[in-house]
Amino acid sequence: MKKIKFEDLVKVIRDSVIEINCVPSPELISKYNQSIENEDNILSKQVLLSLKENALIAKERMIPICQDTGTAVFFIEYGTEINIDGGFIYDAIYEGVRLGYQEGYLRKSIVDNPLNRKNTGNNLPPIIHTKLIEGENLNIVVLAKGAGSENMSSLKMMTPSDGIEGIKNFVLETVVKAGPNPCPPITVGVGVGSNFEGVALLAKKALVKDLFETVEDDLIMEIEADLKMKLNELNIGPQGFGGKTSVFDVAVMMEPCHIASMPVAVNINCHVIRHKKIIF
Ligand code: SF4
Repeated sequence: MKKIKFEDLVKVIRDSVIEINCVPSPELISKYNQSIENEDNILSKQVLLSLKENALIAKERMIPICQDTGTAVFFIEYGTEINIDGGFIYDAIYEGVRLGYQEGYLRKSIVDNPLNRKNTGNNLPPIIHTKLIEGENLNIVVLAKGAGSENMSSLKMMTPSDGIEGIKNFVLETVVKAGPNPCPPITVGVGVGSNFEGVALLAKKALVKDLFETVEDDLIMEIEADLKMKLNELNIGPQGFGGKTSVFDVAVMMEPCHIASMPVAVNINCHVIRHKKIIF
């Protein structure tokens, strides 16, 4: 049985929510650089340069890359041979989020009730998805998810006869409808399969697909490449100013589903990609 100290877990979560909000990853900077290089539209190139400069200033001053510091979302793979010494894992996550948002001066963006809309004042609760795995590993993927892009996401219960073209058309419709609202260049996470609640989770997971072990599949790779090409031809461009760079990436994840169903969900992330994987 592997022991992890409760207070160590709290500290790692605290530090991680601050880091993902204030420090752009090397991958994000490289996406800005590639897009700047690739973009012909002068105004859009300038927008991309400003986005990159903003991210680098955030890192230098340890201030948030964007004022919407998001909902804290966690994917946890919890080994059966893990023991949290001194407390319960969810309490450690709550405390880490509370401390991180407080001490990192991150905006508190959660209301206690969607109708009364009173701010909880500490960005709690986070959203936590847990999966039990065998062994001594504790893997945690943490995301800070802004509302501007989340609000532009969509889910459709399609039928098998809609086929691959139906899926692609739904993704295109969703991104066209979103236009500049999700702060492009966006990442598009597409979930296909499972059921109503499962497909939404799959689309969220697709946004951080690079942090999960997935089996490469030729058909999925072809759908991703085709969608990326078509979405980048829409001329939405960085922050909606037109140009070649509407989408940084498209990631598709699939799961088995009922013979009569083909659920599809599209979860959109803005240009501020804020996530990391923690391995204990
Ligand atoms: S969508 Fe992203 S970049 Fe736009 S306001 Fe929200 S967090 Fe910021």
